[in-house]
Amino acid sequence: MANKSEDFKNQAQQIIDWITGYFERLEDLPVKSQVQPGEIYDQLPKEAPETGESIEQIMEDMNKIILPGITHWQSPKFFAYFPANSSLPSLFAEMLTAAMGVQGMKWETSPAAAELEEKVMNWLKSEIRLPDYFHGVIQDSASTATLVSLLTAREKYSDYSINEYGFYNQPTFRIYCSAETHSSIERAVKIAGFGKENLVKVPVDSENKLDTIELEGAIHKDLQSGYKPLAVIATIGTTGTTAIDPLMAIADIKNRYDLWLHVDAAYAGTALLLDDYQWMIYGIEQVDTFVFNPHKWLFTNFDCSAYYVKDKEALTNTFQIVPEYLKTQTDDQVNNYSDWTIPLGRRFRALKLWFVLRYYGMNQIREKLRYHLQLASEFKQWVEAAADFELLAPVTLNVISFRYHPTGVNDEKKLNALNEQLLHSVNKTGKMYFTHTKVDGKYTLRMVIGQTDVEKRHVEEAWEVINKERGKL
Ligand SMILES: *Cc1c(COP(=O)(O)O)cnc(C)c1O
Repeated sequence: MANKSEDFKNQAQQIIDWITGYFERLEDLPVKSQVQPGEIYDQLPKEAPETGESIEQIMEDMNKIILPGITHWQSPKFFAYFPANSSLPSLFAEMLTAAMGVQGMKWETSPAAAELEEKVMNWLKSEIRLPDYFHGVIQDSASTATLVSLLTAREKYSDYSINEYGFYNQPTFRIYCSAETHSSIERAVKIAGFGKENLVKVPVDSENKLDTIELEGAIHKDLQSGYKPLAVIATIGTTGTTAIDPLMAIADIKNRYDLWLHVDAAYAGTALLLDDYQWMIYGIEQVDTFVFNPHKWLFTNFDCSAYYVKDKEALTNTFQIVPEYLKTQTDDQVNNYSDWTIPLGRRFRALKLWFVLRYYGMNQIREKLRYHLQLASEFKQWVEAAADFELLAPVTLNVISFRYHPTGVNDEKKLNALNEQLLHSVNKTGKMYFTHTKVDGKYTLRMVIGQTDVEKRHVEEAWEVINKERGKL
């Protein structure tokens, strides 16, 4: 940082030029990195350099060694997993954030970081139409948010005594979710000390949604066995097929059995910006905590997870620790967000969200989302119309779960092998990248159409590539 400003300008210009060039050729780069394990590691020197090097030298290796090992998540030909979208305003804000290098652990350590966070979380709350009494905080990931939620539930129901004494003299708590929930739920249950055996994975119905009759049955059985049902997690948009768990019916069960209700809407939550998708959270009044990731489909680069909690005191009572060196004069007037989460240190994540919301405005964001949904609906129609492809799950948003199914081939093992082969040969072309899941044991191709800059031509080309590779099987 001690650089003179001329040096800075010159070096920064090189970086900006590189980024500009990267965007220009992004569409031509192989979307999925094609390197072999160890290939990058082996090209790097054994020891850290003893003397400093120039930006030119570092950038030379950036191009030669690092770039080939990059999978291009910002390519409009990226249809894998869920997107981890960035955008220009998000990138600009990240540059500013890094320049200031703010640690936003307490209000006093940068009041703007705390107050902007409160403001943008309130903006989003009102845009996705959560009830006003929710309090928002930015977490690093949905995984952390879910862990924070389960820890809060644990403390609230034990009257904060597990924090004090551990699990001594406690009942065996049970947590419920569907068999299709994200792996982060199981991880959170393990870390929170409940034990994986006490996570009850309730079967799903024919549309991969949590079956509420099965849920109630499981709770009954547990009560008879002397367990203490504690929490249920509803997924709005499962990772496999974006199934939407029936929140209203789950909320009803939550009330009858006095459970904690967490909603994991990591990906699909962004769709709540559109009126047409508000039905997904009917029953939200009964929800205790809710999370969705602007770092997936809301053009804000990783990490930025929007977490909302009804009972703010339960949250801060769970996490607050105030050693002498962290006491400040304003503690009772402001939000000290490190009391709302696990790490002490906090990045200034609100800035990029603020830039994104202002730069596009809600209108243009909604327009982009509608466009993605429209493209997905067209892709779905192509699959339906093709004689040798079939859908394997309902298309609820912009994720199409399908497979190649040539007429005459009905052996499931053979079909699984064929689709696995198709996936790998398509990705090997470098012309697109998509991934798979399993639905009912069937190897399922998964096309997610939600990258920031995706256009119709990219989706058309993807369908052509898939068909061309299928022809070679
Ligand atoms: C992506 C995803 C997660 C995990 O998100 P992170 O922010 O990476 O932790 C959790 N739940 C669902 C439903 C997801 O799609």
